[in-house]
Amino acid sequence: MNTLLINNIEKIKQNVKSWKEEKCKIGLVPTMGALHNGHASLIEKAKQTCDKVVVSIFVNPIQFGPNEDFDKYPRTIENDLELCKKYGVDIVFSPTPKEMYGENKILSNTELTYVCPPYKFVDCLCGKSRPGHFDGVATVVMKLFNIVNPDYAFFGQKDAQQLFILKKMVKDLNLDIEIIPCPIVREPDGLALSSRNTYLSTKEREFALSISKALREIERQYNTGITDANILFDVGFSVLNQNINLEYLEFRDFETFDKIQNVKKNTLIAIAAKVGKTRLIDNIIIG
Ligand code: AMP
Repeated sequence: MNTLLINNIEKIKQNVKSWKEEKCKIGLVPTMGALHNGHASLIEKAKQTCDKVVVSIFVNPIQFGPNEDFDKYPRTIENDLELCKKYGVDIVFSPTPKEMYGENKILSNTELTYVCPPYKFVDCLCGKSRPGHFDGVATVVMKLFNIVNPDYAFFGQKDAQQLFILKKMVKDLNLDIEIIPCPIVREPDGLALSSRNTYLSTKEREFALSISKALREIERQYNTGITDANILFDVGFSVLNQNINLEYLEFRDFETFDKIQNVKKNTLIAIAAKVGKTRLIDNIIIG
């Protein structure tokens, strides 16, 4: 199977046009590359659901803050292409920032049209420490949607706030796209797969493991009948390794995104923490 690597927007549009003429269902898997089995699970789901699959690989400058890891974010296009070939991806779309944003030097909303998701959903959790992040995400995803014109788009529950915000964007802006959420893929010991795990030293990886352990312990205690979010916070906090820096551990309704006092079905339990210099996120949704 031939996987095409395309970095030009017009070329993608041409391919999409001919697919649409053939009445193909198109699936889009947006990524920032450094692909791992988490990404692969999204691609597999897309292959099962769609006739044609496009994986975008783009480290999006406008979703990184000035002191974040945009420059050192892992870029492994050769390996990524191999993975995409293995999974039968039709097109890998890997544009340059210039192709996506033109000659704009200052990529801010003084020069670029942005999609700004509602304040209520961006001014909390990851958005608190990453101002502008979700505006950058929504803007690039909207652009990718307009370029690829997919019927389905696949996103991981790993980035639960992102998933929530993008579902809201699709609804609010009447986009004819179905967002397909995909479960978190983990290492056998529980660590959620992330491109940023490559930053971790062996010791840091051990510390990081306590994040998924904390979530599992919270779920275990919830299953014994404890629903009070304060008590469950303490349960989780006590499991977290002391060498990591907790940014948040929060309980939110995954329908409304309101904070929850009494944990129930469909509660998002989300953690962000810094392990050394590496910022990691993980979550569970109570089933
Ligand atoms: P990223 O390349 O980190 O922007 O992620 C691209 C997509 O892959 C997003 O929808 C993520 O939520 C998803 N993803 C990343 N890690 C995982 C994982 N461990 N399990 C499932 N999906 C993931």
